[in-house]
Amino acid sequence: MPIHHVDLSDQSSLLDIYATKASQDSLPKYKLPKGRTEPRAAYALVRDELMLDGNSRQNLATFCTTWVEDEVKQLMADAVDKNMIDKDEYPQTAEIENRCVHILADLWNAEKSRETVGCSTTGSSEAAMLGGLAFKWQWRKRREAEGKDASKPNIVTGPVQICWKKFARYFDVEIREVPLEGDALGITPEDLRAHCDENTIGVVATLGVTFTGIYEPVEALAKELDAIQKDLGFDIPIHVDAASGGFIAPFIQRDLVWDFRIKRVRSINASGHKYGLAPLGVGWVIWSSKEDLPEDLIFHVDYLGGDMPTFALNFSRPGGEIIAQYYNFLRLGHDGYTAVQQACSDTAKWLGVELAKLGPFEMVYDGIGGLPAVAYKLTDTDHGFTLYDLSERVRMRGWQIASYPLPSNRQDTVVQRILIRHGVSRDLAELLLDDIIRAIDHLKKNPVPNSVAKPSFHHA
Ligand SMILES: *Cc1c(COP(=O)(O)O)cnc(C)c1O
Repeated sequence: MPIHHVDLSDQSSLLDIYATKASQDSLPKYKLPKGRTEPRAAYALVRDELMLDGNSRQNLATFCTTWVEDEVKQLMADAVDKNMIDKDEYPQTAEIENRCVHILADLWNAEKSRETVGCSTTGSSEAAMLGGLAFKWQWRKRREAEGKDASKPNIVTGPVQICWKKFARYFDVEIREVPLEGDALGITPEDLRAHCDENTIGVVATLGVTFTGIYEPVEALAKELDAIQKDLGFDIPIHVDAASGGFIAPFIQRDLVWDFRIKRVRSINASGHKYGLAPLGVGWVIWSSKEDLPEDLIFHVDYLGGDMPTFALNFSRPGGEIIAQYYNFLRLGHDGYTAVQQACSDTAKWLGVELAKLGPFEMVYDGIGGLPAVAYKLTDTDHGFTLYDLSERVRMRGWQIASYPLPSNRQDTVVQRILIRHGVSRDLAELLLDDIIRAIDHLKKNPVPNSVAKPSFHHA
């Protein structure tokens, strides 16, 4: 066909995206559109909507990875077709997952790290469910073998992340979340005796409590459980929810004993997509030994001609995050993780010192001994504004900083928390500090008569 016979009005690929028909209509919200949209235009229009999400690098409320190297983006794109459950079709992705399990088991000092079991998950939530289920099964087996009632399991925790409440509700376990007494920010050994009994399937200790960033004292909790076993006969295992701390403590708090070196610690979870530095969508759960994961929780699926043992709540799941996790292990090594986490920790401590100088704040967690984070409250005097007002004010500059009440019994204390992650340089933290100072100045000059209502913040 001669070129002058082609109707150019159809050739939307020649048009400027914002002159295509698609860009002149509102996008579909309730119904699948009838027709097609040219890919460049569809991409631009969807991407434009995402501008309203805010800049994740300035989101200092999240623990999750918001900065990755270009190579990680490349690997994620390379792996877009890989389903990690198809171990037969993608055996090397399965091998890479396995390597990560054993690397983590070794990092967390499992006695036989090459033989122990574990798996990747979608995040720490799924990992917590699996850890909790293993405890429930082990406890029930023990009770039934003793001919005792196995209908009232409970799990004892400090101020836990919401995933443990989900575990308890979905899997019919009573959760005994120990209330915070006095100045406590986590569970203490003294709390255990009053809350544990013969139906306690396990104690959850958090390494990096969501609300403040502190570590619960795993070793001291284990010692008290030893004493409880001696006095009362209950042999209660510990699961460490190391969602964040599992990738911090081994690098910058090496003297802290919190992991499988403690015999009572039978399983540990961590989020690869938090301080593991992998992109969103990967968590890990590792058991101290094979014997800690009950065989009857493992499904052996005859799949594509092979036997595939699986223990997971999901089936199909992307493989890219796992591959990116392995890339990070290779790319950074022990030295690299140490350098990254130490830089974050140093910046958090610096920010803590600077914030404390400003006057209105009292530090609740100063960044020392736990996660690279700070948490603080307003001093008792009337400031004419609340932390919620301050969060809202700095949001005008794009910063997202969480304010929320502590869990019971300390709901009267509202705290603000800033997380320092990979990609938050000292300079960026200085810019934030300047904006906080400006915001406080503004709020002092313009007291807020009706402070913003308590927004609900979901910890992630
Ligand atoms: C974030 C977090 C979780 C949940 O992890 P996801 O990876 O978001 O599912 C569980 N426990 C703690 C302590 C956390 O910080």
